[in-house]
Amino acid sequence: MKVEIIKCLEDNYSYLIIDTNNNNACVVDPSEAEPIIDFIQNNKLNLNFILNTHHHYDHVGGNNELKKKYGAKIIGFKNDKERIPGIDILVEDNEIWKSKNFESKIIHIPGHTSGHICFYFFKEKIIFTGDTLFSLGCGRIFEGTYKEMFNSLNKLKSLPQNTKVYCGHEYTLKNSLFCSKYEKNNKKLEMKILEINSKLEKSLPTIPSTIGEELACNIFLRAKNLEEFSKLRDLKDNF
Ligand code: ZN
Ligand code: FE
Repeated sequence: MKVEIIKCLEDNYSYLIIDTNNNNACVVDPSEAEPIIDFIQNNKLNLNFILNTHHHYDHVGGNNELKKKYGAKIIGFKNDKERIPGIDILVEDNEIWKSKNFESKIIHIPGHTSGHICFYFFKEKIIFTGDTLFSLGCGRIFEGTYKEMFNSLNKLKSLPQNTKVYCGHEYTLKNSLFCSKYEKNNKKLEMKILEINSKLEKSLPTIPSTIGEELACNIFLRAKNLEEFSKLRDLKDNF
């Protein structure tokens, strides 16, 4: 399996998970169809599945067009069946979804939206976290409570540290400024910021991160309790 990063819209990332044995592929959160179609055509892939982390338009915008063009099946959280366009396969918390050589655990991580899930490909140790865990940040709380978001992040914190994290947006630089403003003297964060800047200077994505790096540098994962987390989330909303 390999993961290709596809830039979409302003600052979204969609991802193609490609089985290199047979060119079968899944796309995660296709914001729009066109850049995905270009990549599929250029690399002669078979798009089998569309995986949605949540229902926001910048994550499902390409669903219907891709489904129509390739006959791909759309997978999303069962409680969001009314608001994920074209949904075919309903999944739930802790379920293992498996088809062809793709195998992913579904983890329900509410907070940003009530139906937000992540796709954890445990054999490859890669996770697609949508708008819940960003590199050096976390999503805004639109539909859930602080407690739900805090608990959702705690679920992600317990994954193996070498798990690669692929998130929904390129927000890392701005997030890094927030982290370094509210946590001084974090050497690992300072190192990560140097890496981030050198990637961005070359127009490269700062993604993937890892759970280990996020534990060391992401201030939202470093919050000791719900109160501290909630305070940080409020500060970030106005940052
Ligand atoms: Zn969102
Ligand atoms: Fe988003």
